[in-house]
Amino acid sequence: MAEHETHEFDVVVIGAGGAGLRAAIEAHDRGARTALVCKSLLGKAHTVMAEGGIAAAMGNVYPDDNWRVHFRDTMRGGKMLNSWRMAQLHAQEAPDRVYELEEWGALFDRTDDGRILQRDFGGHRFARLAHVGDRTGLEMIRTLQHRAVSQGVEVFMECTVMRLLTDGDRIAGAVAYWRESGRLVVFRAKAVVLATGGIGKAWKVTSNSWEYTGDGHALALWAGADLVDMEFVQFHPTGMVWPPSVRGILVTEGVRGDGGVLRNSQGKRFMFDYIPEMFRAETAETEEEADRWYDDRQNNRRTPDLLPRDEVARAINTEVKEGRGSPHGGVFLDIASRKPADYIQRRLPSMYHQFKELADVDITREPMEVGPTCHYVMGGVRVDPDTQAATVPGLFAAGEAAGGMHGANRLGGNSLSDLLVFGLRAGRYAAEHAASAGDPPAVDPAQVEAAEREALAPFERAGAGENPYTVQQDLQDCMQELVGIIRTEGELKSALERITALKERAARVGVEGHRQYNPGWHLALDLRSLLTVSECVALAALERRESRGGHTRDDYPKPDPELGKVKMVVRAREGKVAVSREPLDDLPDDLRQLFEEKPRS
Ligand SMILES: Cc1cc2nc3c(=O)[nH]c(=O)nc-3n(C[C@H](O)[C@H](O)[C@H](O)COP(=O)(O)OP(=O)(O)OC[C@H]3O[C@@H](n4cnc5c(N)ncnc54)[C@H](O)[C@@H]3O)c2cc1C
Repeated sequence: MAEHETHEFDVVVIGAGGAGLRAAIEAHDRGARTALVCKSLLGKAHTVMAEGGIAAAMGNVYPDDNWRVHFRDTMRGGKMLNSWRMAQLHAQEAPDRVYELEEWGALFDRTDDGRILQRDFGGHRFARLAHVGDRTGLEMIRTLQHRAVSQGVEVFMECTVMRLLTDGDRIAGAVAYWRESGRLVVFRAKAVVLATGGIGKAWKVTSNSWEYTGDGHALALWAGADLVDMEFVQFHPTGMVWPPSVRGILVTEGVRGDGGVLRNSQGKRFMFDYIPEMFRAETAETEEEADRWYDDRQNNRRTPDLLPRDEVARAINTEVKEGRGSPHGGVFLDIASRKPADYIQRRLPSMYHQFKELADVDITREPMEVGPTCHYVMGGVRVDPDTQAATVPGLFAAGEAAGGMHGANRLGGNSLSDLLVFGLRAGRYAAEHAASAGDPPAVDPAQVEAAEREALAPFERAGAGENPYTVQQDLQDCMQELVGIIRTEGELKSALERITALKERAARVGVEGHRQYNPGWHLALDLRSLLTVSECVALAALERRESRGGHTRDDYPKPDPELGKVKMVVRAREGKVAVSREPLDDLPDDLRQLFEEKPRS
């Protein structure tokens, strides 16, 4: 085995987005020797790209808002499949986490009387998203990063974790490699927190950037942990569709929250044709009522343009399929005809620049062309709702890498608040676990050696093996065509066959050159997690024979009440991945009552 450096910590946090940073700050504050490891540069995470805001029932704009309403919106958005306890903790604790960010120096847009301003987003009854223009993630990451570094959390950046280490049935650390030198790093740790974000790079059209290859999900599964809800992948309704080089880049829901509306090629506001029964009572039926709602929430119902994302994405999909789409295969998102140019530039500066620079479209003068883009995975590591502990002792997960909180569909803004609430909890309980774990676990050299052998194998096939980029492209085509926004049994079965064949090809990839900063090699290693999570999604999607939230089956177009009582659990045993159904936890009576009360506008 080649020389490698070894570091010992109480807690190793993998991932430096909002969840990882918040977890690391908390673990460190509780006295744990804490490391923060991230694949890209510190500060370069999806969290920094978040635009619209952080959902928290602070009631600054609508005093009627409170955690119960937020809880109810979240559960209904998730089609009642959420872990109710996570949704409750999230709604109760999110306001404190936002105020804490403010105390740590985050600047937010303000109401006229100086409180944190909150904006409207899909599925939220009240204007609830604390924001800074459309650059909220940047402010959040800046604040958390400053806090973590100034408190003394040790950071390992451009360092990719490729395997977790175990000692018996408990976590013992992780093996990583420096992206620059290709050298191995071994972390010995009593607790590991996975905060690696999403899996979007398995699809062709996605808002996700290169890092999001599902590493945390796969690392957990390979270490013996359970995943849940993997069939639920969110296709955000509004990604850019043109030009092809920018297809998939996100157009924030804030455009609709701030007055933008969706139209088809005939100029029709088509969302009025797609109001589902579950949301009918609280959704405007006419354009006049919808427009009045922006200024008077008490006496009008909300616009259907702000229905939850799964509903809007499916509606756009249908409009395009039925021939009413825009020239480049999307629909139109129009704020230009509805708001003055200076308002648009002030409220949505990033969107203005994004369209001007990437598509030569001035959104203050003309509509945007938008269509669904793979954005977020609701599924993730199965965790205890209070402690974020995974099913393997010593392993914790938070943020997008963890499952349960969002059920079948996430509401916009609920991710940033999820990161803060459960990042803190993961850090706290990981530190407590480390404090009570006794001696540090032993690192098994055979596991490190096996990880190294596996990592270096692509070099042995240089010149002869498959190209990793071709394998990734073929996987993305497969997931886009067969495990996309609408699915069928035949398509999912054929996706699983193609994934099996792609796994064989991935085992034969070869890379040229050496270990020093070699992106082809990095991708060859990422392929393992991309293929693993793709298989999990396809398997769980095949098993859920109904349509619900982010999972739509053409062959089972309606929700099935029986399947509304179960979650799909994916686990790997002896190299095989299997899915099984498990009952959801019962909703306590006091929370159940919230769904029986008549909603107030
Ligand atoms: C364009 C865009 C806009 C969004 N807007 C909003 C919004 O307005 N409101 C909202 O609530 N949500 C929004 N979201 C979703 C939200 O930003 C993400 O879900 C959230 O930021 C995920 O945070 P995280 O901490 O879980 O992971 P991330 O912020 O994604 O960070 C993951 C970290 O893990 C690291 N990592 C990954 N794999 C490895 C590995 N193998 N080894 C080491 N490190 C690894 C990465 O380098 C990174 O540091 C948006 C997402 C996108 C893409």
